[in-house]
Amino acid sequence: MLTLSNEDRDVIARLLQPGVGVLQGTKGKRLAQDKGIILVACSDGDQFHDLYCHKVTLQARHREDPRIHPLVLHGLPCRLAYRSPANDPDDMVDEVFLKCIRGALSRKHFETVALCAHVPCMHATDYGLGVLDQLRLMVAGKIRIADYCRPAEPTIACFLHVDYGEERAKENRRKTYFVNREALRRFTDAMLPPISDLNLA
Ligand SMILES: [Zn+2]
Repeated sequence: MLTLSNEDRDVIARLLQPGVGVLQGTKGKRLAQDKGIILVACSDGDQFHDLYCHKVTLQARHREDPRIHPLVLHGLPCRLAYRSPANDPDDMVDEVFLKCIRGALSRKHFETVALCAHVPCMHATDYGLGVLDQLRLMVAGKIRIADYCRPAEPTIACFLHVDYGEERAKENRRKTYFVNREALRRFTDAMLPPISDLNLA
């Protein structure tokens, strides 16, 4: 099983700081899902069960029976952005899964899409993507889904599942966080150097 890199662990700690607020707990967050959710996730067999169970738990507040429509593939939440570096040039993964999402919205009448990236992720590691890269690609994918699926107007939410590893007690080892898009934009903007520092010559 992969272990969380120190680099990603440090970034996650920063993203969780209250003043930053990119990653937030899901308790109290009411994502509308009376009609269930389309779950876009990585197929990682070490993590999917925990992720799926978390979604079932959240849905219990909205429905008697869970209604979850999983679309899963290695690293999928990061592969829906236009020209995502998590895809090989000819694999067409984004087109195939965008069609699946649009079809589930129109034919199965879902109204909510949950994108859930995770760390540590084999696919993201293989393509050289850190957790911040994954979050940015997932949000870009969210925007693309919204455009692609018009005139449907689904609610699309982003989540990050983290496996902190065996150093934590079992019940505290895995966490799923809500990703705040605006806070992520502010955080990544702040990382860019001021314009005066750029060598534009
Ligand atoms: Zn993965």
